[in-house]
Order: sequence, then C-alpha cells, then structure tokens
Amino acid sequence: MPFSRLTPRTQKLTTLVAAGITFLLMALVFGGLQFFYAKRQQAVQNINYTQLRQLAETSGALAVEIDGEMMTVRMPDGQLLRAVVTNAAAQQEVAAAFASNKAQVEYQSLQPGTLTTILSWLLPIASVLLFVFIGWRVYASMGGGQGNFQQAETNTNDGATFADVAGVDEARAELSETIDFLRDPTRFGRLGGRPPRGLLLSGPPGTGKTLLARAAANEAKVPFLSVSGSSFQEKFAGLGAARVRRLFKQARKLAPCVIFIDEIDALGRKRGRGGDSASADQDQTLNQLLVEMDGFEQLSGVVVIASTNRPDILDQALTRPGRFDREITVNLADMRGREQILRVHARNLKLEEGLDLSWIARGTPGFSGADLANLLNEAAIAATRDNSEAVGREHVEYARDKILMGVERQGFLMDEDERFATAVHEAGHVAVGLAVENGDPIHKVSILPRGRALGVTQALPERDRFMKKREYLEDQIAMLLGGRAAELLLLETMTAGASNDIERAVEIARKMVAEFGMSPLGPIHLGRPEDPHSQTILDRIEQATNDIVGEQLKRACKVVDARRTEIAVLVDGLMERDTLDAEEIRSSFGLKSEQAAA
Ligand code: ADP
Ligand code: ZN
Repeated sequence: MPFSRLTPRTQKLTTLVAAGITFLLMALVFGGLQFFYAKRQQAVQNINYTQLRQLAETSGALAVEIDGEMMTVRMPDGQLLRAVVTNAAAQQEVAAAFASNKAQVEYQSLQPGTLTTILSWLLPIASVLLFVFIGWRVYASMGGGQGNFQQAETNTNDGATFADVAGVDEARAELSETIDFLRDPTRFGRLGGRPPRGLLLSGPPGTGKTLLARAAANEAKVPFLSVSGSSFQEKFAGLGAARVRRLFKQARKLAPCVIFIDEIDALGRKRGRGGDSASADQDQTLNQLLVEMDGFEQLSGVVVIASTNRPDILDQALTRPGRFDREITVNLADMRGREQILRVHARNLKLEEGLDLSWIARGTPGFSGADLANLLNEAAIAATRDNSEAVGREHVEYARDKILMGVERQGFLMDEDERFATAVHEAGHVAVGLAVENGDPIHKVSILPRGRALGVTQALPERDRFMKKREYLEDQIAMLLGGRAAELLLLETMTAGASNDIERAVEIARKMVAEFGMSPLGPIHLGRPEDPHSQTILDRIEQATNDIVGEQLKRACKVVDARRTEIAVLVDGLMERDTLDAEEIRSSFGLKSEQAAA
C-alpha cells in the first residue's frame, strides 16, 4: 500500500482559537446565507434547453451552478439565467460544454428547499448549533484552511523511477506515451496525437500501481499529486465536490503534473444508489470529477491516473472517451516477474552464496510485489536477529511462513484438550489434501496459534495457476472441509474453529454455481450481488451451492474415515512438536519422501 496517502491535517487548536474561528465561520455562513437570499431575490430569467445549450457552446458565461435538475448560469454582467434539465446525461453534457468554455461549474451543496424549511421552524438556538457543527466540518475538511493535496515529497519511494518497478513491462510501455506528453505537452499537440487525460490502473492490491504512477511522474520530472479516493468521502453533500475542485485547481497551477487518485472506486461507484446524504455527496463528488476532467484544456498538461482493484463497480461515465479512457491492467507477476521484483528489492541486501532469487520466486506463487518486498524485509530482519552475515534460505522460509500464516502468537496457551482438538482438525485438512488429486502440495501443518487461527495447514501451489478446473475447485472445497470432517468422525463434535473454512468453501462453491456455470443450473452468471435478481434464481443458486458443499463434505468424511491410523500418527507428531514440515507429514502417512519420489 502506498505511503503517500495525505489525510486532512489534524490541527490542535486551543479552545479559545477554536471558538474564535467558529464565530467567524458562523458570521460567514450567515453572510453567505444572506447573499444567497439576495441572489434568489435577484431576477432570474428562465430559458429553455436549446438556449442553454447555445450558451454553453459560446463562451461568455461566468459560472454554472447545478442544483438537482436546475442549472443556473451566471453571466459577466450579473444576470442569472436558469433552465431545468431533467435528463442527467444531457445535464452532464451541457456542464461539460460550459466547462470547456471556461465557465466554472459547481454542483451546489446546499439544497435551498430543505434548508429554508428547516430554518423556518427550527429554534434559533438549534440553527446556531447546526451552523457551528457544519462550520467545524467545513473547516476540518479544508484541513484548517490549507490544501490537503500536497506534492508528496516526504515518502519512501519518492525518487522511484521505472528502474524500481519490475515485472510489469506492459504497463510500463503503455505509460511511456503519457511520459512523453508530460515532458512536452505542446509538442504532443503539434504532432496531432490525442493527448492522454485519464488512465485507469486496475489490478490486485500491492502490484505496484501507485509505484508505477509515481515513477511515471518522476520519469517525466513533473509534480505528483497523490490523493486517496476514500478521502473524498464526506458526510455532508457538497464537501467532497469542493475537495475535487480544489485538487484540480492546484493541479492546473502546477501543470504539467500528475494527479494520482488511489482507490478511485471509493468515489467512483455507480451513482444514484442510496438516498442518504453520504451517497448524495458521493454522487456530487463524482459529477464534479467528471466535469473537471471534461473541462481540461486538451493541452493543459494535467494527467489523471487512478487506481482500483474493482474496475467492475465503477460508474460507466468514468471510462467514457476523454475521461479514464485508457485502462491498464496490472496483474500479479508470474515467476519471471517475481524474480525481477525480488532483484529490485534485494539490491541493498547481502544474500548468502547459495540463496538464489529464482528459488524464492518459485516458492511464492500468488505473491504481489508488495508481498515480495515484505518477504525480503522480514528475511533481513530475521537474519539480523540471528546475527547472520547474510540472508539465507532459512530466513526466507521463516519470512514466508510468517506472511502466509501470520505471526505465531506468543503467550497464548491452549490446554491439552484444545491442542488435541486443533491437531485433529488440522490433520483432517492434511489427510484430504494428500488424498485429492488436484490439490496443491501440503507444505506445512502447525497447531501454534497464529493471527486469529488456532492451527494452520499450508498448501503451496507448485506453479502459478492460471486456469482453475472444476476438479481443482472441488478438491479445494473438500480440503477446506477436511477439518470439519475430522471433528465429526474423530472428535464426534463440531468446533467453531471450522467457521473460516466453511466460509471459504461456500464462497468457492457459490462462484462455481453463479459465475463459472459448473452446476446443474448450467452456464449462468449472476453478475454483481447489488444487481437486482429474482428470488427464485437466488434460491436455486443457494440450493446448488449447498449441494456442492454437502457433497464435498461427504467426500472429506470418507477420506478421514479411511485414514484414521495415519491421522492418529500425525496428531501425535503435532502434539509433540507443534509444527510438521512436508517431509514429516509424508512419513506420517507412510508416503515416500518428495526427493525419493522425484
Ligand atoms: P498498489 O498501488 O498496486 O496497491 P503499491 O504501488 O502501493 O501497490 O506497492 C507497494 C509496494 O510494493 C511498492 O512501494 C514496492 O515496494 C512494492 N512493489 C509492488 N509492486 C512492485 C513491482 N512491480 N516492482 C517492484 N516493487 C513493487
Ligand atoms: Zn481448518
């Protein structure tokens, strides 16, 4: 995760200063309100949509205020013209036209209708309290009167260039055009290319999206304005939109520059979902962002890069031409990529002679760039603790276990009964894991509590899995349920420790039914949970999911039943030594060792 998230500055003010500022703000709010009333009383001329469009297309308007369906245009001579545009798309278009003709577009935050009614019957004291509160919120959201969007200059990967990003060659190549543009925005226009405006980096967390954006800015030697999408989430309608306006204002001053919006899904969700104030604010924030992007002069030299790991939930308006119209997918690296990433992060580490980065890469399928950086860091810490000269295999193994299984919980003592129950549960996972044909090899099993789990069975893919067959998914479910199967048959009870296993098993089964079409319901795809679906189809999916899970639990029970003796040996081993590695597991089950088999 990036370190550059800039949050509003929390300012500690003495009560006295606070009171003073509150008073000032109150005065401002009242003043503003009076102005607002004055403006309302000012003659407003109604115009129709066609006239509005004409206005939008010829420059001349000073500003446009959009309040619900009402669009009010302010002319340089102070005249106010108003039109009602009911169609949201049409409104967007007109707003964009205004913006590109240099009119200021503002989504109104205060809804006069509601406000006036509230004001008219609220006791004066109540309204004073309200203003104080709103005043505080505004003040706080402005970060004490200062901009929140700073050039991120004080963070760890500040000087990052493309040399620091590995394993994502395609994304790098796609960004090179953007860098050319940032280096010389005007030249780009002369050559007739369409300058990039918005890029969307999508992919799982920790794959280097932030790093890429920052490196692009650094390669072009332009400022990097970084902000998190979630920092726009405000309780009061309109505040988020105001923050967007300020961000772009600052960017225009700094241009050419890069605006980076991390986790844009936090503000870019589909609009118009809920009626509450927070989602109204989100809608306005998103509208404001769209208007700002449309309003860019083509060659202003501001490039907006956004990142998300949920491109599917983004409002479609965001990805229209002229906005975030280029999507660059940043995937988890494959083995070669992982080796390259490890090379980047091993630059300043001393590694033992025999420690080969490709060996680490092979043993870390599914690890993101951030995981790999973390792995080497943890290994280095372990090596220091051991007073070792260099980082060795054992340090890497230790670090990998720590990342995969969580830290061992010290001082958390289970009594013998609990240890036994945990050992039986884990042995059940192991037994099923060894029996199934399409599972990943069992790497380790432990009854030392780690994180929130009492015990862990760790299976590690031998290679990157790009395609998941039905049999693989079924085996996964069976293995997850192996713990519960062992409880049922060998302990003749059930423990709550299986809850996470069950959750994951059901999740896989549900995907098989509702997304991969691997059930008697046939090739159906349910889409997103938030979309409307009929109760009948939901019930049938639920049923088919239950069937799969039930069937796999039966299968797991069969395996456990057939392997009682071996499980007993494994449980003894666990009770004695807490953790068993792949070799010890295989010998408990009377299997040949890996090396001998190979
Ligand atoms: P994201 O924005 O995709 O969540 P980040 O860019 O914040 O990921 O990555 C976090 C950290 O992980 C980076 O600062 C870097 O140290 C490391 N990292 C991630 N991906 C890579 C990569 N492809 N090459 C080198 N380091 C990487
Ligand atoms: Zn379990």
